[in-house]
Amino acid sequence: MILITGGAGYIGSHLAMALLESGNDIVIFDSLELGHIEIINILKKYGNVKFIQGNLKNIDDIRGVFLVNKIDSVVHFAAYSQVAESVNNPQKYYYNNVYGTLNLLNAMKEFGVNKIVFSSTAATYGEPEYVPIDENHPQRPINAYGNSKLMVERIMDDYDRAYGIKSVRLRYFNVAGADSKARIGEWHEPETHLIPNILKADENKTFKMFGTDYDTPDGTCVRDYINVEDLANAHIKALEYLNRSGKTDYFNLGTGQGDSVKDVFNACEDVLGRKVPLEICPRRAGDPAKLVADNKKALSILGWKPEKTLFDSINSANEWEKRLAKIKSGIVL
Ligand code: UDP
Repeated sequence: MILITGGAGYIGSHLAMALLESGNDIVIFDSLELGHIEIINILKKYGNVKFIQGNLKNIDDIRGVFLVNKIDSVVHFAAYSQVAESVNNPQKYYYNNVYGTLNLLNAMKEFGVNKIVFSSTAATYGEPEYVPIDENHPQRPINAYGNSKLMVERIMDDYDRAYGIKSVRLRYFNVAGADSKARIGEWHEPETHLIPNILKADENKTFKMFGTDYDTPDGTCVRDYINVEDLANAHIKALEYLNRSGKTDYFNLGTGQGDSVKDVFNACEDVLGRKVPLEICPRRAGDPAKLVADNKKALSILGWKPEKTLFDSINSANEWEKRLAKIKSGIVL
């Protein structure tokens, strides 16, 4: 069985759906602090999911999972991921993201499980020295979130050398979109991400564009928006890679293409077929001007390449927003 920590969250649930659809049995471990039981109940309609509520900070919670399930490999999503929050409250990030992962790795070691795919991030690179960013770019995070993920990457190197636990670290750029059948999608409370915030904006809630004076062609930040289904597929390729005795490694997951905040805003207006109320605001602290992935390594070693466009991501996110509104009001599951 494959264990997914954080499988009730945004990216973890999309991997869960993809694994279920290809007939895998999975165990989801999630505290439900940020994940949603509704997402678990939806996933249960599509295959054999065992759900265990627990917290990685409690070693016994995670030991219990290995004790009663035959786990072959782990995909580890469970983490806090808000950059601004991590700056104000680093304790929360190190305790959860680093200590929690240590508990997971120690349970794996105890039960002889030696394959893990880990959600890392482009935030481990810090302020880019060049773009597109390849995997050899220096890793100098500029916030506690990026530091917490980089520390785990380093721990994983040491756990491979000493205990033979093989890891694949996937460094995500900007994850976007939802399940193409709108069954699951992004559900953060509160929402801070660009695409859902544009889609949710209306006369009562203006969309705030953070910074139009960056050194970029149209003055707004440029990001690499990678579709969540493409991303889920990369995790499957990473598991396959580990199953054929792949060595510990790390890969960027992005499209290799940059889109500005204004590009995304215009594309959202096209998908919605209406104008979105817009307010130009000062820069948000900690936003680099441009983050774009060099994704060639994932293609050459994992055989992964993204297939969906920014339009696909916005379109699926928009369909999901409509469904989410119904789920929240109790109309549908
Ligand atoms: N952004 C924005 N308004 C929002 C949310 C985000 O202008 O309500 C901008 C943000 O400043 C950044 C880009 O959109 O330049 C992507 O931000 P997001 O939070 O989606 O992802 P991040 O790049 O922080 O991982």
